[in-house]
Amino acid sequence: MRVLITGVTGQDGAYLSQLMLDKGYEVFGLVRRSASADVIDERLRWLGIAGKVHIVDGNLTDLSALIRTMQDVKPDEVYNLGAQSFVKSSWQQPLLTGQVTGIGAVNVLEAVRIARPQARFYQASSSEMYGLVQHPIQSEKTPFYPRSPYAVAKLYAHWMTVNYRESFGLHASNGILFNHESPLRGIEFVTRKVTDGAARIKLGLSQDLKLGNMDAKRDWGHARDYVKAMWLMLQQDKPDDYVVATGRTTTVRDMCRIAFDHVGLNYEEFVKVDPAFMRPAEVDLLLGDPSKAKAALGWEAETSLETMIAEMVEADLFRHRSRMR
Ligand code: NDP
Ligand code: GDP
Repeated sequence: MRVLITGVTGQDGAYLSQLMLDKGYEVFGLVRRSASADVIDERLRWLGIAGKVHIVDGNLTDLSALIRTMQDVKPDEVYNLGAQSFVKSSWQQPLLTGQVTGIGAVNVLEAVRIARPQARFYQASSSEMYGLVQHPIQSEKTPFYPRSPYAVAKLYAHWMTVNYRESFGLHASNGILFNHESPLRGIEFVTRKVTDGAARIKLGLSQDLKLGNMDAKRDWGHARDYVKAMWLMLQQDKPDDYVVATGRTTTVRDMCRIAFDHVGLNYEEFVKVDPAFMRPAEVDLLLGDPSKAKAALGWEAETSLETMIAEMVEADLFRHRSRMR
């Protein structure tokens, strides 16, 4: 079996590659050209799988490259994980976010439809689509109300995936994933910023940590658990859409407490609020109902927030100690 993963150099791309290699798939990853080619596969290297993933040059904005990739690779499964994925940047780059995160997904759907219609397709949808939440607990039935250019782009990609399933009979599924983190999370996202900050302060490399809205609540799970749900969706006879979440929500403040407690520090002494990290429009609360994924896929989150944050702090301590040597 062959799999094509877009966004293979990102957090989820790395964990999904590891899962697929373990299952015996031949893994192909679409990678955009970078002047920093020597560090682009850092996450794959962290997991010890860099040499095992076939790298294919391409870009989500280049339909011709995607069609050629489908023709050459002939994947059985396609996971579209590539995106401009950082919500805050999407206000600075709304058009690029639309082109990559929205139209980019449709480019992949078109390439599948034209060159590899028998392949099963996964779209990385997002809980950010719930935005100004219309129900305190969000399920597949909850109406969407996106609150950022990122979320609007994801919503377009989400409905185009549904539309291609209904129009052309593609085996196309959306995973509506709530926030998921790991030691491989991008440094600008709040969990990783906090675990890195706690590690720096513990080692005397920083004096404080500046954050934005401490009252926002997120349903945080572990990326390693969540990629299993992606794979399970594509093993079903029928394509469908699923919420993937833990069912527990925590404030940014409490997540800081957990991270700083792990290194024996009181977060209140070090964390400062800086308006520069506030957003033009905020998503105050995300809390997912994963009961459909549990019933239909047999999937459940396995890692607690405390265990995950501890793993992330330890990884950041390790990184900084290695650099200091
Ligand atoms: P990352 O930001 O870690 O990875 C994004 C990937 O997309 C990177 O490999 C990046 O490449 C690639 N990419 C960006 N622009 C392009 C482009 N123009 N052409 C090709 N590839 C491109 O995201 P995650 O791994 O955290 O998330 C995976 C997917 O799931 C994303 O679509 C994200 O929006 C979505 N999602 C994530 C959630 C989360 O909590 N993590 C929650 C819900 C949805 P490069 O390395 O070159 O930058
Ligand atoms: P998002 O849910 O995809 O936007 O994931 P983030 O990790 O970027 O943000 C999660 C929440 O943390 C949002 O409500 C942010 O406003 C909040 N937050 C508070 N301070 C910060 C910060 O310094 N950086 C980031 N990225 N988010 C912050």
